Amino acid sequence: MQHFYFDHNATTPVAGPVLDEMKTCLAEVYGNASSIHHFGQSAKEKLESARRRVGALLGAGEKDIVFTSGGTEADNLAILGTVRASTRVYRHVITSAIEHPAVLNSCAQLERDGVRVDYVRVGSSGVVDPDDVKQLLRPDTELVSIMHANNEVGTIQPIAEIAALAHEAGIVFHCDGVQAAGRIPVNVAELDVDLYSVSAHKFYGPKGAGALYVRKGTPLAAQVFGGHHERDRRAGTENIPAISGMGVAAVDLKLADCSLLRDLLERAIVQRVPGMRVNCADSPRLPNTSSLSFDFVSGEPLVIALDLRGFAVSSGSACSSGAVEPSHVLRAIGLSDKDARSSIRISFGASNTVEQVDALVDAICDSVAHLRRISPEAHVHA
Ligand code: PLP
Repeated sequence: MQHFYFDHNATTPVAGPVLDEMKTCLAEVYGNASSIHHFGQSAKEKLESARRRVGALLGAGEKDIVFTSGGTEADNLAILGTVRASTRVYRHVITSAIEHPAVLNSCAQLERDGVRVDYVRVGSSGVVDPDDVKQLLRPDTELVSIMHANNEVGTIQPIAEIAALAHEAGIVFHCDGVQAAGRIPVNVAELDVDLYSVSAHKFYGPKGAGALYVRKGTPLAAQVFGGHHERDRRAGTENIPAISGMGVAAVDLKLADCSLLRDLLERAIVQRVPGMRVNCADSPRLPNTSSLSFDFVSGEPLVIALDLRGFAVSSGSACSSGAVEPSHVLRAIGLSDKDARSSIRISFGASNTVEQVDALVDAICDSVAHLRRISPEAHVHA
């Protein structure tokens, strides 16, 4: 049986040129980038070339890029690093209710440290209203952290507007751009962000490499302690194969416009399946992300049914799959627990085709019909 991948928000396959680069690094560029001899300097060249390339992806200078082990660490560094750089006694942070756990759990750690955190709510649009952020600003606010694009419903946030509000009040602004970088154009200068997190494995690079853009002059306390790597902002011998692979992924990237495939799928499902909704359909969204809810069908059995037919999709976010809780994002946009549990996420990527989408639509229609046939609840409501 052939298998088709529709879960690109969970992760993407490594692109061919990225794999070639990583193999070369693993086989030949094994020096420590801090060593002054030939081997170390070859590694250093790879490191700095990757820094230029990742910087260029974000419209940033190379000096502003700090490599990390991924998006989670970049978010931790941005949030904990900003607040811990402050010596004030009372400290306050604003974030949103639909952030990734990498942000929410960094904020939870700050709360345990005595920092006050406010979570901006979003309505059914899945988009943060800048006025709601404005209402929450306080004299002791150290940081505003709002994601660029949501991993579950794909909504794109008005980052430049929110950053402007934060800056008017002299507050640092962080943006989790893990789902946006490589999907939509990103320019940190135009967005006017101070900190911006990215992760290589979301744009055809390897797992275990990420970066934080740090605007020059932004106060940031290191969160990993050791040597003087990354200009004292992130200690640890650099993972050259992964970082250099990330650099190649950043250059190799062609922003694949998946919106045609997404629209094709959504139109077909809306026409053919009664009792379903496309979440946040009217909001600005990533071109590759579709979140669908089906009455009387649980997301997990639907994901399994589709997997058995050769289609990989996810229910809620991959990072929280296995957890029994309904998705906090779907709850935050106003879905009941039941509706949140009856949702799946389809995220398209460069290799998907119209034929694959047509086949996926048929598989969804059949699987939903089958699951409803065996659902006692659906019979009660029939
Ligand atoms: N932020 C967002 C919005 C994400 O979607 C993810 C991963 O799914 C992360 C952060 C964490 O990135 P990583 O998997 O590189 O740790």
